[in-house]
Amino acid sequence: MIRFSDEQIMVRDMVSRLAREKIQPIAIEAEKKHSFNPELLKILHENGLLSLLLPVELGGANADLTTCCLTVEEISRVDGSVGISYATHTTGVFFIVDWASQEQKERYYQKIAREGAYFGVALTEPNAGSDAVSIKTRAERSDQNYIINGSKIFITNAGVAHVFLVFALTKPGMRDKGISAFIVDRDTPGVKFGKEEEKMAVVGSSTRELIFDNAEVPAQNLLSDEGTGFKIVMAEFMKSRLLVASMALGIARGGLDEAVRYAKERTQFGKTISEFQGIQFMIADMAMNVEVAKRMIYTTSEYIGRGKAGKELASFAAMSKCFASDVAMKVTTDAVQILGGYGIMKEYPVERMMRDAKVTQIIEGTNQIQRIIIARDVLKS
Ligand SMILES: Cc1cc2nc3c(=O)[nH]c(=O)nc-3n(C[C@H](O)[C@H](O)[C@H](O)COP(=O)(O)OP(=O)(O)OC[C@H]3O[C@@H](n4cnc5c(N)ncnc54)[C@H](O)[C@@H]3O)c2cc1C
Repeated sequence: MIRFSDEQIMVRDMVSRLAREKIQPIAIEAEKKHSFNPELLKILHENGLLSLLLPVELGGANADLTTCCLTVEEISRVDGSVGISYATHTTGVFFIVDWASQEQKERYYQKIAREGAYFGVALTEPNAGSDAVSIKTRAERSDQNYIINGSKIFITNAGVAHVFLVFALTKPGMRDKGISAFIVDRDTPGVKFGKEEEKMAVVGSSTRELIFDNAEVPAQNLLSDEGTGFKIVMAEFMKSRLLVASMALGIARGGLDEAVRYAKERTQFGKTISEFQGIQFMIADMAMNVEVAKRMIYTTSEYIGRGKAGKELASFAAMSKCFASDVAMKVTTDAVQILGGYGIMKEYPVERMMRDAKVTQIIEGTNQIQRIIIARDVLKS
Protein backbone atom coordinates (compact mmCIF):
# COMPACT_ATOMS: atom_id res chain seq x y z
CA MET A 1 0.00 0.00 0.00
CA ILE A 2 1.25 3.48 -0.81
CA ARG A 3 2.64 5.40 2.15
CA PHE A 4 1.24 8.89 2.36
CA SER A 5 3.45 11.82 3.34
CA ASP A 6 2.80 13.72 6.58
CA GLU A 7 1.33 16.59 4.51
CA GLN A 8 -1.03 14.27 2.64
CA ILE A 9 -2.25 12.71 5.90
CA MET A 10 -2.69 16.13 7.49
CA VAL A 11 -4.79 17.46 4.59
CA ARG A 12 -6.82 14.22 4.34
CA ASP A 13 -7.67 14.22 8.06
CA MET A 14 -8.47 17.94 8.08
CA VAL A 15 -10.81 17.53 5.07
CA SER A 16 -12.42 14.44 6.56
CA ARG A 17 -13.29 16.42 9.71
CA LEU A 18 -14.41 19.46 7.74
CA ALA A 19 -16.60 17.30 5.49
CA ARG A 20 -18.40 15.71 8.44
CA GLU A 21 -18.71 18.80 10.60
CA LYS A 22 -19.24 21.70 8.18
CA ILE A 23 -19.94 20.41 4.66
CA GLN A 24 -22.41 17.62 5.37
CA PRO A 25 -25.09 19.72 7.16
CA ILE A 26 -25.14 22.24 4.29
CA ALA A 27 -25.08 19.49 1.67
CA ILE A 28 -28.11 17.77 3.23
CA GLU A 29 -30.13 20.99 2.86
CA ALA A 30 -28.82 21.56 -0.70
CA GLU A 31 -29.95 18.03 -1.61
CA LYS A 32 -33.47 18.74 -0.30
CA LYS A 33 -33.69 22.05 -2.15
CA HIS A 34 -32.10 20.69 -5.36
CA SER A 35 -29.76 23.63 -5.53
CA PHE A 36 -26.14 24.45 -4.84
CA ASN A 37 -25.58 26.39 -1.62
CA PRO A 38 -23.00 29.19 -2.16
CA GLU A 39 -22.23 29.02 1.58
CA LEU A 40 -20.06 26.03 0.62
CA LEU A 41 -17.70 28.28 -1.34
CA LYS A 42 -17.03 30.27 1.80
CA ILE A 43 -16.23 27.12 3.77
CA LEU A 44 -13.96 25.75 1.03
CA HIS A 45 -12.18 29.11 0.72
CA GLU A 46 -11.78 29.71 4.45
CA ASN A 47 -10.24 26.28 4.88
CA GLY A 48 -7.76 26.74 2.06
CA LEU A 49 -9.29 24.14 -0.24
CA LEU A 50 -9.80 26.44 -3.23
CA SER A 51 -6.09 27.27 -3.26
CA LEU A 52 -4.74 23.79 -2.46
CA LEU A 53 -2.70 23.70 -5.68
CA LEU A 54 -1.25 27.19 -5.32
CA PRO A 55 2.30 27.98 -4.18
CA VAL A 56 2.78 28.22 -0.42
CA GLU A 57 3.76 31.92 -0.61
CA LEU A 58 0.27 32.66 -1.98
CA GLY A 59 -1.44 30.82 0.84
CA GLY A 60 -1.65 27.56 -1.07
CA ALA A 61 -0.40 24.12 -0.09
CA ASN A 62 1.52 23.35 -3.29
CA ALA A 63 -0.49 20.12 -3.18
CA ASP A 64 0.15 17.18 -5.46
CA LEU A 65 -2.43 15.15 -7.38
CA THR A 66 -2.70 12.47 -4.66
CA THR A 67 -3.56 15.11 -2.06
CA CYS A 68 -6.26 16.49 -4.38
CA CYS A 69 -7.59 12.96 -4.86
CA LEU A 70 -7.74 12.39 -1.09
CA THR A 71 -9.55 15.71 -0.69
CA VAL A 72 -12.18 14.87 -3.34
CA GLU A 73 -12.57 11.40 -1.80
CA GLU A 74 -13.20 12.68 1.72
CA ILE A 75 -15.69 15.30 0.50
CA SER A 76 -17.53 12.79 -1.72
CA ARG A 77 -17.72 10.31 1.14
CA VAL A 78 -20.24 12.67 2.73
CA ASP A 79 -21.75 14.17 -0.43
CA GLY A 80 -21.41 13.54 -4.18
CA SER A 81 -22.81 16.94 -5.17
CA VAL A 82 -20.10 18.83 -3.34
CA GLY A 83 -17.68 16.19 -4.62
CA ILE A 84 -18.41 16.84 -8.32
CA SER A 85 -18.45 20.59 -7.79
CA TYR A 86 -15.10 20.64 -5.97
CA ALA A 87 -13.49 18.10 -8.35
CA THR A 88 -14.48 20.38 -11.24
CA HIS A 89 -12.95 23.41 -9.52
CA THR A 90 -9.72 21.47 -8.94
CA THR A 91 -9.62 20.40 -12.60
CA GLY A 92 -10.01 24.03 -13.65
CA VAL A 93 -7.14 25.10 -11.40
CA PHE A 94 -4.97 22.29 -12.78
CA PHE A 95 -5.41 23.81 -16.28
CA ILE A 96 -3.99 27.09 -14.95
CA VAL A 97 -1.15 25.46 -12.99
CA ASP A 98 -0.10 23.25 -15.91
CA TRP A 99 -0.70 25.47 -18.96
CA ALA A 100 -1.09 29.16 -18.11
CA SER A 101 1.59 31.76 -18.85
CA GLN A 102 3.38 33.47 -15.95
CA GLU A 103 1.20 36.56 -16.38
CA GLN A 104 -2.01 34.47 -16.40
CA LYS A 105 -0.86 32.53 -13.34
CA GLU A 106 -0.21 35.74 -11.44
CA ARG A 107 -3.67 37.08 -12.31
CA TYR A 108 -5.64 33.91 -11.55
CA TYR A 109 -3.65 32.73 -8.53
CA GLN A 110 -4.44 36.11 -6.93
CA LYS A 111 -8.13 35.73 -7.80
CA ILE A 112 -8.21 32.29 -6.18
CA ALA A 113 -6.16 33.19 -3.12
CA ARG A 114 -7.67 36.61 -2.41
CA GLU A 115 -11.20 36.42 -3.80
CA GLY A 116 -11.89 32.71 -3.54
CA ALA A 117 -12.41 32.35 -7.31
CA TYR A 118 -14.19 29.10 -8.16
CA PHE A 119 -13.71 27.28 -11.48
CA GLY A 120 -15.73 25.42 -14.09
CA VAL A 121 -14.71 23.56 -17.26
CA ALA A 122 -16.78 23.79 -20.45
CA LEU A 123 -16.19 21.26 -23.21
CA THR A 124 -19.47 19.38 -23.85
CA GLU A 125 -21.95 20.65 -26.45
CA PRO A 126 -25.37 19.40 -27.56
CA ASN A 127 -23.82 17.43 -30.44
CA ALA A 128 -20.37 16.83 -29.02
CA GLY A 129 -20.18 14.68 -25.89
CA SER A 130 -17.96 11.62 -26.24
CA ASP A 131 -16.94 12.93 -29.66
CA ALA A 132 -15.40 16.11 -28.23
CA VAL A 133 -13.50 16.91 -31.45
CA SER A 134 -16.85 17.78 -33.05
CA ILE A 135 -17.45 20.92 -30.97
CA LYS A 136 -18.94 23.86 -32.87
CA THR A 137 -18.39 26.79 -30.47
CA ARG A 138 -16.40 29.31 -32.47
CA ALA A 139 -13.73 31.79 -31.33
CA GLU A 140 -12.74 34.43 -33.91
CA ARG A 141 -9.87 36.85 -33.38
CA SER A 142 -10.81 40.53 -33.55
CA ASP A 143 -8.16 43.06 -32.55
CA GLN A 144 -7.39 42.48 -28.87
CA ASN A 145 -10.23 40.00 -28.30
CA TYR A 146 -11.60 36.66 -29.36
CA ILE A 147 -15.32 36.78 -30.11
CA ILE A 148 -16.87 33.54 -28.90
CA ASN A 149 -20.23 32.21 -30.12
CA GLY A 150 -21.89 28.91 -29.26
CA SER A 151 -23.17 26.94 -26.34
CA LYS A 152 -21.86 24.40 -23.85
CA ILE A 153 -24.21 22.08 -21.99
CA PHE A 154 -24.25 20.18 -18.69
CA ILE A 155 -21.65 22.53 -17.22
CA THR A 156 -20.96 21.87 -13.54
CA ASN A 157 -20.65 25.05 -11.48
CA ALA A 158 -22.23 27.19 -14.26
CA GLY A 159 -23.85 30.15 -12.53
CA VAL A 160 -21.71 29.49 -9.45
CA ALA A 161 -18.10 29.59 -10.66
CA HIS A 162 -16.23 32.82 -11.37
CA VAL A 163 -13.92 31.47 -14.09
CA PHE A 164 -14.39 28.85 -16.83
CA LEU A 165 -11.95 26.96 -19.00
CA VAL A 166 -13.66 26.99 -22.39
CA PHE A 167 -12.81 25.05 -25.54
CA ALA A 168 -13.68 26.61 -28.89
CA LEU A 169 -12.79 26.33 -32.57
CA THR A 170 -10.28 28.85 -33.82
CA LYS A 171 -9.71 27.00 -37.09
CA PRO A 172 -12.84 25.16 -38.19
CA GLY A 173 -12.20 22.16 -40.41
CA MET A 174 -8.89 21.35 -38.73
CA ARG A 175 -10.48 18.88 -36.27
CA ASP A 176 -8.41 18.54 -33.08
CA LYS A 177 -5.75 20.99 -34.34
CA GLY A 178 -8.41 23.70 -34.72
CA ILE A 179 -9.45 23.74 -31.05
CA SER A 180 -8.12 26.35 -28.59
CA ALA A 181 -8.56 26.77 -24.84
CA PHE A 182 -9.63 30.04 -23.19
CA ILE A 183 -9.86 31.33 -19.64
CA VAL A 184 -13.24 33.06 -19.47
CA ASP A 185 -14.41 35.21 -16.57
CA ARG A 186 -18.05 34.89 -15.61
CA ASP A 187 -18.74 38.61 -16.05
CA THR A 188 -17.38 38.73 -19.62
CA PRO A 189 -19.88 40.63 -21.83
CA GLY A 190 -21.88 38.07 -23.87
CA VAL A 191 -21.54 35.19 -21.38
CA LYS A 192 -24.93 33.91 -20.23
CA PHE A 193 -26.27 30.92 -18.34
CA GLY A 194 -29.21 28.66 -19.19
CA LYS A 195 -31.72 27.38 -16.66
CA GLU A 196 -30.72 24.99 -13.90
CA GLU A 197 -31.00 21.40 -15.21
CA GLU A 198 -33.36 19.13 -13.30
CA LYS A 199 -31.32 16.02 -12.56
CA MET A 200 -31.79 12.64 -10.92
CA ALA A 201 -28.39 12.86 -9.20
CA VAL A 202 -25.85 15.30 -7.78
CA VAL A 203 -28.88 17.51 -7.29
CA GLY A 204 -27.07 19.74 -4.83
CA SER A 205 -24.63 20.80 -7.55
CA SER A 206 -25.27 23.35 -10.28
CA THR A 207 -25.51 22.10 -13.89
CA ARG A 208 -26.44 24.67 -16.53
CA GLU A 209 -25.89 25.66 -20.11
CA LEU A 210 -23.10 28.17 -20.72
CA ILE A 211 -24.00 30.42 -23.64
CA PHE A 212 -21.63 32.62 -25.63
CA ASP A 213 -23.38 35.39 -27.51
CA ASN A 214 -20.61 37.43 -29.13
CA ALA A 215 -18.67 37.05 -25.88
CA GLU A 216 -15.59 39.27 -25.93
CA VAL A 217 -12.72 37.39 -24.36
CA PRO A 218 -9.39 39.27 -24.19
CA ALA A 219 -6.72 37.68 -26.41
CA GLN A 220 -4.47 37.52 -23.34
CA ASN A 221 -6.86 34.86 -21.99
CA LEU A 222 -5.92 32.33 -24.67
CA LEU A 223 -4.39 29.37 -22.82
CA SER A 224 -1.11 28.29 -24.40
CA ASP A 225 -1.12 28.59 -28.21
CA GLU A 226 -3.94 28.57 -30.73
CA GLY A 227 -4.75 25.03 -31.82
CA THR A 228 -3.46 23.34 -28.66
CA GLY A 229 -6.81 23.12 -26.84
CA PHE A 230 -7.48 19.48 -27.63
CA LYS A 231 -3.96 18.41 -26.68
CA ILE A 232 -4.38 20.29 -23.39
CA VAL A 233 -7.73 18.73 -22.56
CA MET A 234 -6.47 15.22 -23.35
CA ALA A 235 -3.43 15.74 -21.11
CA GLU A 236 -5.55 17.09 -18.24
CA PHE A 237 -8.01 14.19 -18.55
CA MET A 238 -5.35 12.08 -16.85
CA LYS A 239 -5.74 14.19 -13.73
CA SER A 240 -9.45 14.96 -13.96
CA ARG A 241 -10.25 11.26 -14.42
CA LEU A 242 -8.35 10.50 -11.22
CA LEU A 243 -10.44 13.16 -9.45
CA VAL A 244 -13.67 11.59 -10.72
CA ALA A 245 -12.33 8.17 -9.69
CA SER A 246 -11.78 9.67 -6.22
CA MET A 247 -15.31 11.06 -6.21
CA ALA A 248 -16.54 7.53 -6.99
CA LEU A 249 -14.32 6.02 -4.31
CA GLY A 250 -15.63 8.49 -1.73
CA ILE A 251 -19.24 7.64 -2.65
CA ALA A 252 -18.47 3.90 -2.46
CA ARG A 253 -16.87 4.31 0.97
CA GLY A 254 -19.89 6.30 2.14
CA GLY A 255 -22.15 3.45 0.98
CA LEU A 256 -20.01 0.84 2.70
CA ASP A 257 -19.95 2.87 5.96
CA GLU A 258 -23.75 3.08 5.98
CA ALA A 259 -24.22 -0.60 5.10
CA VAL A 260 -21.88 -1.74 7.88
CA ARG A 261 -23.49 0.56 10.44
CA TYR A 262 -26.99 -0.59 9.54
CA ALA A 263 -26.09 -4.31 9.34
CA LYS A 264 -24.73 -4.21 12.89
CA GLU A 265 -27.88 -2.53 14.25
CA ARG A 266 -30.77 -4.11 12.36
CA THR A 267 -32.14 -7.31 13.88
CA GLN A 268 -34.28 -9.89 12.11
CA PHE A 269 -34.96 -13.48 13.17
CA GLY A 270 -33.47 -12.58 16.56
CA LYS A 271 -30.03 -11.68 15.22
CA THR A 272 -28.36 -8.64 13.75
CA ILE A 273 -28.40 -9.00 9.96
CA SER A 274 -24.57 -8.75 10.06
CA GLU A 275 -24.63 -12.27 11.49
CA PHE A 276 -26.15 -13.68 8.28
CA GLN A 277 -23.56 -15.03 5.89
CA GLY A 278 -25.52 -13.67 2.91
CA ILE A 279 -24.96 -10.14 4.23
CA GLN A 280 -21.36 -10.84 5.34
CA PHE A 281 -20.41 -11.96 1.81
CA MET A 282 -21.92 -8.82 0.31
CA ILE A 283 -19.99 -6.65 2.77
CA ALA A 284 -16.77 -8.59 2.09
CA ASP A 285 -17.17 -8.01 -1.68
CA MET A 286 -17.92 -4.32 -1.14
CA ALA A 287 -14.85 -3.88 1.09
CA MET A 288 -12.64 -5.82 -1.35
CA ASN A 289 -13.66 -3.67 -4.31
CA VAL A 290 -13.21 -0.44 -2.35
CA GLU A 291 -9.70 -1.53 -1.35
CA VAL A 292 -8.72 -2.33 -4.96
CA ALA A 293 -10.10 1.02 -6.16
CA LYS A 294 -8.08 2.81 -3.46
CA ARG A 295 -4.84 1.12 -4.47
CA MET A 296 -5.43 1.82 -8.15
CA ILE A 297 -6.20 5.49 -7.59
CA TYR A 298 -3.40 6.22 -5.11
CA THR A 299 -0.76 4.44 -7.18
CA THR A 300 -1.83 6.03 -10.47
CA SER A 301 -2.18 9.51 -8.97
CA GLU A 302 1.30 9.20 -7.48
CA TYR A 303 2.78 8.27 -10.90
CA ILE A 304 0.91 11.00 -12.78
CA GLY A 305 1.63 13.54 -10.04
CA ARG A 306 5.34 12.85 -10.32
CA GLY A 307 5.06 14.06 -13.90
CA LYS A 308 5.59 10.66 -15.45
CA ALA A 309 3.79 10.95 -18.74
CA GLY A 310 3.17 8.20 -21.21
CA LYS A 311 0.37 6.44 -23.01
CA GLU A 312 0.15 3.68 -20.40
CA LEU A 313 -0.67 6.27 -17.73
CA ALA A 314 -3.62 7.50 -19.79
CA SER A 315 -4.79 3.91 -19.77
CA PHE A 316 -4.23 3.59 -15.99
CA ALA A 317 -6.17 6.83 -15.44
CA ALA A 318 -8.99 5.39 -17.59
CA MET A 319 -8.86 2.11 -15.61
CA SER A 320 -9.00 3.98 -12.29
CA LYS A 321 -12.00 6.07 -13.37
CA CYS A 322 -13.83 3.15 -14.95
CA PHE A 323 -13.14 0.66 -12.15
CA ALA A 324 -13.83 3.05 -9.26
CA SER A 325 -17.10 4.27 -10.78
CA ASP A 326 -18.31 0.71 -11.51
CA VAL A 327 -17.38 -0.15 -7.90
CA ALA A 328 -19.30 2.89 -6.64
CA MET A 329 -22.38 1.80 -8.60
CA LYS A 330 -22.19 -1.80 -7.33
CA VAL A 331 -21.33 -0.94 -3.72
CA THR A 332 -24.07 1.68 -3.36
CA THR A 333 -26.63 -0.62 -5.02
CA ASP A 334 -25.66 -3.34 -2.53
CA ALA A 335 -25.83 -0.81 0.31
CA VAL A 336 -29.44 -0.08 -0.66
CA GLN A 337 -30.07 -3.85 -0.70
CA ILE A 338 -28.60 -4.28 2.79
CA LEU A 339 -30.85 -1.53 4.14
CA GLY A 340 -33.86 -3.28 2.58
CA GLY A 341 -36.95 -1.06 2.32
CA TYR A 342 -35.24 1.62 4.37
CA GLY A 343 -32.59 1.81 1.65
CA ILE A 344 -35.21 3.23 -0.71
CA MET A 345 -36.28 5.90 1.76
CA LYS A 346 -34.84 9.40 1.63
CA GLU A 347 -34.47 9.26 5.39
CA TYR A 348 -31.27 7.23 4.77
CA PRO A 349 -28.42 8.46 2.55
CA VAL A 350 -27.80 5.31 0.49
CA GLU A 351 -30.43 6.03 -2.20
CA ARG A 352 -28.70 9.39 -2.82
CA MET A 353 -25.31 7.68 -2.98
CA MET A 354 -26.65 5.17 -5.51
CA ARG A 355 -27.97 7.98 -7.71
CA ASP A 356 -24.76 10.00 -7.39
CA ALA A 357 -22.62 6.93 -8.21
CA LYS A 358 -24.32 6.74 -11.63
CA VAL A 359 -22.94 10.15 -12.56
CA THR A 360 -19.36 8.94 -12.08
CA GLN A 361 -19.87 6.29 -14.79
CA ILE A 362 -20.81 9.06 -17.26
CA ILE A 363 -18.75 12.20 -16.63
CA GLU A 364 -15.15 12.83 -17.73
CA GLY A 365 -15.66 10.33 -20.56
CA THR A 366 -18.26 7.56 -20.19
CA ASN A 367 -17.08 4.15 -19.07
CA GLN A 368 -17.50 2.88 -22.65
CA ILE A 369 -14.98 5.53 -23.73
CA GLN A 370 -12.62 4.51 -20.88
CA ARG A 371 -12.85 0.87 -22.03
CA ILE A 372 -11.99 1.96 -25.59
CA ILE A 373 -8.86 3.72 -24.27
CA ILE A 374 -7.85 0.69 -22.18
CA ALA A 375 -8.48 -1.82 -24.98
CA ARG A 376 -6.54 0.29 -27.48
CA ASP A 377 -3.57 0.33 -25.12
CA VAL A 378 -3.77 -3.40 -24.40
CA LEU A 379 -4.16 -4.34 -28.07
CA LYS A 380 -1.55 -1.94 -29.49
CA SER A 381 1.35 -4.39 -29.75
C1 LIG B 1 -24.02 15.78 -13.93
C2 LIG B 1 -23.16 16.05 -15.13
C3 LIG B 1 -22.17 17.02 -15.04
C4 LIG B 1 -21.37 17.30 -16.15
N1 LIG B 1 -20.44 18.31 -16.07
C5 LIG B 1 -19.73 18.67 -17.17
C6 LIG B 1 -18.83 19.79 -17.13
O1 LIG B 1 -18.63 20.40 -16.09
N2 LIG B 1 -18.20 20.14 -18.27
C7 LIG B 1 -18.39 19.48 -19.46
O2 LIG B 1 -17.79 19.85 -20.45
N3 LIG B 1 -19.24 18.41 -19.53
C8 LIG B 1 -19.91 18.00 -18.42
N4 LIG B 1 -20.79 16.93 -18.47
C9 LIG B 1 -20.98 16.25 -19.74
C10 LIG B 1 -20.38 14.85 -19.77
O3 LIG B 1 -18.97 14.91 -19.81
C11 LIG B 1 -20.97 14.12 -20.99
O4 LIG B 1 -22.34 13.87 -20.66
C12 LIG B 1 -20.26 12.82 -21.31
O5 LIG B 1 -18.97 13.08 -21.82
C13 LIG B 1 -21.04 12.00 -22.35
O6 LIG B 1 -21.42 12.75 -23.44
P1 LIG B 1 -22.96 12.70 -23.93
O7 LIG B 1 -23.82 12.93 -22.74
O8 LIG B 1 -23.11 13.60 -25.09
O9 LIG B 1 -23.20 11.19 -24.39
P2 LIG B 1 -22.86 10.56 -25.83
O10 LIG B 1 -21.47 10.85 -26.20
O11 LIG B 1 -23.94 10.95 -26.78
O12 LIG B 1 -23.00 9.02 -25.51
C14 LIG B 1 -24.25 8.33 -25.43
C15 LIG B 1 -23.95 6.85 -25.17
O13 LIG B 1 -23.20 6.32 -26.28
C16 LIG B 1 -21.98 5.76 -25.82
N5 LIG B 1 -20.94 5.96 -26.82
C17 LIG B 1 -20.57 7.11 -27.43
N6 LIG B 1 -19.55 6.89 -28.27
C18 LIG B 1 -19.25 5.56 -28.17
C19 LIG B 1 -18.30 4.71 -28.80
N7 LIG B 1 -17.40 5.19 -29.66
N8 LIG B 1 -18.32 3.40 -28.48
C20 LIG B 1 -19.20 2.90 -27.58
N9 LIG B 1 -20.12 3.66 -26.96
C21 LIG B 1 -20.14 4.97 -27.26
C22 LIG B 1 -21.68 6.48 -24.52
O14 LIG B 1 -20.81 5.72 -23.69
C23 LIG B 1 -23.07 6.64 -23.92
O15 LIG B 1 -23.46 5.45 -23.29
C24 LIG B 1 -21.56 16.61 -17.37
C25 LIG B 1 -22.55 15.61 -17.43
C26 LIG B 1 -23.34 15.32 -16.33
C27 LIG B 1 -24.38 14.25 -16.43
